[in-house]
Amino acid sequence: MLYNRFSDYLINKYKCKVYKLPLNLPVTCPNRDGNISKKGCVFCGEEGAGFENLSNHLSVKEQLSINSKYIGEKYSSNKFIAYFQNYSNTYLPLNDFKNYIEEACRDNIAAIYISTRPDCIWSEYLEFLKEIKETKNVDILIELGLQTVNYHTLKMLNRGHLLAEFIDAVLLIKKYGIETCVHYILDIPMDSIDDTTEGARIISALKVEQVKCHSLYILKDTILGDMYEKGEFYPISINEYIERAITFLEYLDPSIVIQRLIGRAPKERSLFCNWGMSWWKIHDMLENKMNEENRYQGKKFNYLSQTRKMHL
Ligand code: SF4
Repeated sequence: MLYNRFSDYLINKYKCKVYKLPLNLPVTCPNRDGNISKKGCVFCGEEGAGFENLSNHLSVKEQLSINSKYIGEKYSSNKFIAYFQNYSNTYLPLNDFKNYIEEACRDNIAAIYISTRPDCIWSEYLEFLKEIKETKNVDILIELGLQTVNYHTLKMLNRGHLLAEFIDAVLLIKKYGIETCVHYILDIPMDSIDDTTEGARIISALKVEQVKCHSLYILKDTILGDMYEKGEFYPISINEYIERAITFLEYLDPSIVIQRLIGRAPKERSLFCNWGMSWWKIHDMLENKMNEENRYQGKKFNYLSQTRKMHL
């Protein structure tokens, strides 16, 4: 096994094909509405993270019905993950949050994934999610944006939080028996490969359950887009990206599920995305290199107390 694929994890867990249904709530983000900043993260576009979402004027129930019909027919599937994707989905009053989550608990929903920021995690919300998990027989996972563990880069990205908030959030989520997925950008040009390695080591030490990686894409009309057009930085090369992705996997606990290794952004909205190459081409290059060089997830996972060999 080269790495712990999300598709394999879903089949093993649910014994059938399961697909994510994106949900778009009328929420914002404290890093955009002025609570922390009005600028947002330098890479954040107008839609937040969701490019394929339905209108947030539709209810959760309506969005799930439309998307499950479309995706269910396309992929012959009848089990889904309700995915609260856009902006910070815990940044709303507790009662509204409860209503949206309860609305997503339907027969064909096996799990609810909630995307948010590390500084938008609170005990009352987690207590409610724990109760939902136990009473509605639905899996719950919180997706946290981190992007890098280098706090200089976190400041440059204008994330509005640093590494401590992320560590605190993961530990608090764990207390409630809820799983976590980390969003991570493997090739921020201001980071070195050592930062990528340290990211894998910290994520493993925290026993996060899933990771979602992608390369840095640069959207039009963003601060990052302006920096790129002014020549203030250059993306790293595709070969360097592949090397960073494989190194990241080598240091990562092999039990951590990899939701994805390469992202996508709409061509018409991007100034730069995946070196103009298809997702599949990069995927094949990555796997071919791993096979040729006998490299795999967890190959260098020997640095934590349970895996370290001490020579006295
Ligand atoms: S935390 Fe997410 S939604 Fe908020 S500014 Fe950053 S990328 Fe955008």
